[in-house]
Amino acid sequence: ERSQDADAAIRQTDSDAALARLSAVKKGYLQDPFIQHLVPRARQTHAGPPLINIGTYVRSESIDRLVEQWLDLSKHDRRLCQIVSLGAGSDTRFWKISTGSRKDSLASYIEIDFPDVTTKKAMAIRKSKALGEVLGPPESIRVSHGGTTLDAPKYHLRPADLRLPPTEVLSSCLNSDILNPTLPTLLLFECVLVYMTPNASAAVIQWFVDYFECAASTQGTSGASDRPGILGGIVYEMFGLGDAFGQVMMNNLRARNVTLPGATPYHSLSTLPSRFLNHGFTSTAALTLRHIRRDYLPGSELERISSLEMLDEVEELELVLEHYAITSGIKLFGSCDDATKAR
Ligand code: SAM
Repeated sequence: ERSQDADAAIRQTDSDAALARLSAVKKGYLQDPFIQHLVPRARQTHAGPPLINIGTYVRSESIDRLVEQWLDLSKHDRRLCQIVSLGAGSDTRFWKISTGSRKDSLASYIEIDFPDVTTKKAMAIRKSKALGEVLGPPESIRVSHGGTTLDAPKYHLRPADLRLPPTEVLSSCLNSDILNPTLPTLLLFECVLVYMTPNASAAVIQWFVDYFECAASTQGTSGASDRPGILGGIVYEMFGLGDAFGQVMMNNLRARNVTLPGATPYHSLSTLPSRFLNHGFTSTAALTLRHIRRDYLPGSELERISSLEMLDEVEELELVLEHYAITSGIKLFGSCDDATKAR
């Protein structure tokens, strides 16, 4: 039995993520002119501690770079890309991409979250000129299903509880009109799988694999295209919660009534890629935020952010960053020739 309170606590994590983002923007870590329109004005005075600002910065920058690489695929491949963000919350990535240099690489961007969250986001979009005008002319934006769903030419906001069987919830909110199974598609799970059981997470990933596989195997007969589909995935999550520091992090969340069925205490960095490997993905990699900050962020950026505010807890920062990882993977689907040969 799921309690209403437990679900409300999970949804609340999105407000916290949005506030952290706004704080990092205000302090100059990140540039994001859109997030302010998704945070209620009364809460905008909040300034997060330096440690959280830096964590938010490292996470956002790393995922942005991966998403950019994905969009650049289309240049080589001459196909547009799709992005599906699961548990998207108040994420503003669609707006950043659509106003950036890679906007022409995007075919569609789909966001899924609990209906309460999508309703709030749809309302914020309708209220804000800055958010609305990026979506297209007002007549091209349609809100439906009691305010829980919003469709614009390239943007689709859909309600679903991802813990329910995907054949029920995903099949009813995604179809080939908005998600073309022959285009390269990136699945984003940013801070969401920890709130679901490993089985539920696996079922969601497998649903997408089946969706693309099906299209790859029928292409031969329809003759529509001989280009195989490509599915990419990015997961950002806490891990390594079995150690003392991990326990502190988990207890902090539990104290706020957040249940974490996806937090497997003994998950280590080397087991994270199994999230994708179990579904036939290849080229997987998992890196901690600590590793990314040390080896992948440009020195000039590190210098810039270290001048923004004083950080006293350097050791604590390293410990926190060591408990978050970004895992990515790619799955190529057989061309129709391969599918025919296999039959
Ligand atoms: N991805 C956004 C980000 O990184 O800023 C939001 C992250 S927030 C910590 C987690 C989000 O996942 C919330 O918006 C929450 O409502 C959503 N979420 C958690 N469990 C979910 C579920 N079972 N179905 C749909 N959305 C879910």
